[in-house]
Amino acid sequence: MAGEKKIDGNILAARAFARTGIDHMFGVVGIPVTSFANSAVKEGIRFIAFHNEQSAGYAASAYGYLTGKPGLLLTVSGPGCVHGLAGLSNAMINTWPMVMISGSCDQADVGKGDFQELNQLEAVKPFVKFSGKAHKVSEIPALVSQAVGFAAKGRPGGCYIDFPTDVLHESIDVSEADRLLAGIHPFVPIWALPSLPPPELKQDIQTAVSMLRQAQRPLIVVGKGAAYARAEGPLSDLVRLTGIPFLPTPMGKGLLSETHELSATAARSLAIGQCDVALVVGARLNWLLHFGEPPRWASDVKFILVDVSREEIELRKPSLGLIGDARVVLQEINKEIKDEPFALGRNHPWVGRIISKASENVKKMGAVLAKDVVPFNFQTPMRIIRDALLAQGSPAPIVVSEGANTMDVGRAILLQTEPRTRLDAGTWGTMGVGLGYCIAAAMASPERLVVAVEGDSGFGFSGLEVETLVRYKLPVIVIIFNNGGVYGGDRRNVEDIQGPYKNDPAPTSFVPGAAYHTVMEAFGGKGYLVGTPRELQSALTEAFLKRNPAVINVTIDPYAGAESGRMQHKN
Ligand code: ADP
Repeated sequence: MAGEKKIDGNILAARAFARTGIDHMFGVVGIPVTSFANSAVKEGIRFIAFHNEQSAGYAASAYGYLTGKPGLLLTVSGPGCVHGLAGLSNAMINTWPMVMISGSCDQADVGKGDFQELNQLEAVKPFVKFSGKAHKVSEIPALVSQAVGFAAKGRPGGCYIDFPTDVLHESIDVSEADRLLAGIHPFVPIWALPSLPPPELKQDIQTAVSMLRQAQRPLIVVGKGAAYARAEGPLSDLVRLTGIPFLPTPMGKGLLSETHELSATAARSLAIGQCDVALVVGARLNWLLHFGEPPRWASDVKFILVDVSREEIELRKPSLGLIGDARVVLQEINKEIKDEPFALGRNHPWVGRIISKASENVKKMGAVLAKDVVPFNFQTPMRIIRDALLAQGSPAPIVVSEGANTMDVGRAILLQTEPRTRLDAGTWGTMGVGLGYCIAAAMASPERLVVAVEGDSGFGFSGLEVETLVRYKLPVIVIIFNNGGVYGGDRRNVEDIQGPYKNDPAPTSFVPGAAYHTVMEAFGGKGYLVGTPRELQSALTEAFLKRNPAVINVTIDPYAGAESGRMQHKN
């Protein structure tokens, strides 16, 4: 309408996202998206500005997992989009909801070699459930609504929106914008939706319960899909009603406290090796669970898989597949059991074996952990960190873990007592996620302390994001296990080193004794360099109390730990 007030695409896009109710966006600004970021802030969306889109993308993916709302990543065109693919693919592989938004070159200049030109829709294709480009300003609201909706629908994953420069600058009448925006509804995470079990599930629920009842050696396995679904309430009821031991995957840890008597974490090999019926909830039978195949699992084990994805059930061909949300399906199972609970009790032979094996293994590990080994191995500092984390009580800190040895050793020693308090390298074993995950965790759960426990190599991927921690004053403590390289220092036999570059440092090694703590100090955060139990304890006490950004640089024996962690056969 002539003379009517107008807004541009930047403002319209910001308003569209604001209407979804998603109030955090991670990214790196630049041409052509700076105005969009500023507009988003004006609309009440917190914009967390990173140094690199890769870390921002990892943050967006983890934010999606922790909150159940799609994490938003904003990048510039071309190289920014390419860097962002790290986060987008991470969301896809971990099945976490995320929307990547990239600016792109002017539509009139496509194909002419424009500034940062890339066919971004093609580039994102392998990593998204949905992608779309706004060809004109009026297409923005519907695109935003679709991308946010698809990211969390069914099996969660990544979506992509492309905003060309000309579309961001194009104007639209305010009345028309309002009309289009009215079509966007606030996003509701799956865990906040009413529990409506599909009627066709009823028969399968009965079958599942009777399989569990008849089992001699039943086991419940819970993964990060169950954590995402916030299935902890019904899971706790199920374990109480049945007395069946449970085994979490690495990120399922904490759904029920690992201090629970029926936690089979410390009897993992026995539990998976000898169970006869396994109820697997929100976890794929992929490499992390040894594909559900012998020799790690019994050849005749019956799997009952609970997964929101039909595709996953069809792929694994379990004895029984229950397609649905983990929280809802477990609630239905509990309803079916309720009138006739089958609490197995610790005198049940299987439960008794799991409990005694777990306590035997905990004792064995306790003997190793009791020793103070200096120069530090991996176990001694990990025990000190475990005790400091447990001493925090509730709300429990969120632990971010990466690095080969640091993550492997940490997974066995650190105990999770609350759901969604562990983020690690995940399904792809992605290293470099640490700082991004820390920032996402601090944004998603501001009441919790965030503690990264990572190797020096993992830290190096995104170390400069410690500046982001300081800038946003986040309660994040980064503990670096510094053994001078990937897996450790130079471990080669001198006689094996040949060729013209034999005097180069080993491909696995970094500068020994690197002062990573001073990187944090460069930005005004607190740095600690520690090499003894007393120094580590004192640094943890102070840093956990102050809850300000800190790096604790822990000197580890460069010969401690194994090359490739526990996956040497693959390297
Ligand atoms: P883990 O790494 O903990 O073993 P995975 O990432 O392998 O877990 O598996 C998570 C599974 O959870 C995926 O197959 C995904 O489809 C599924 N999932 C995601 N959301 C839900 C949900 N709300 N309810 C049930 N399953 C879900």
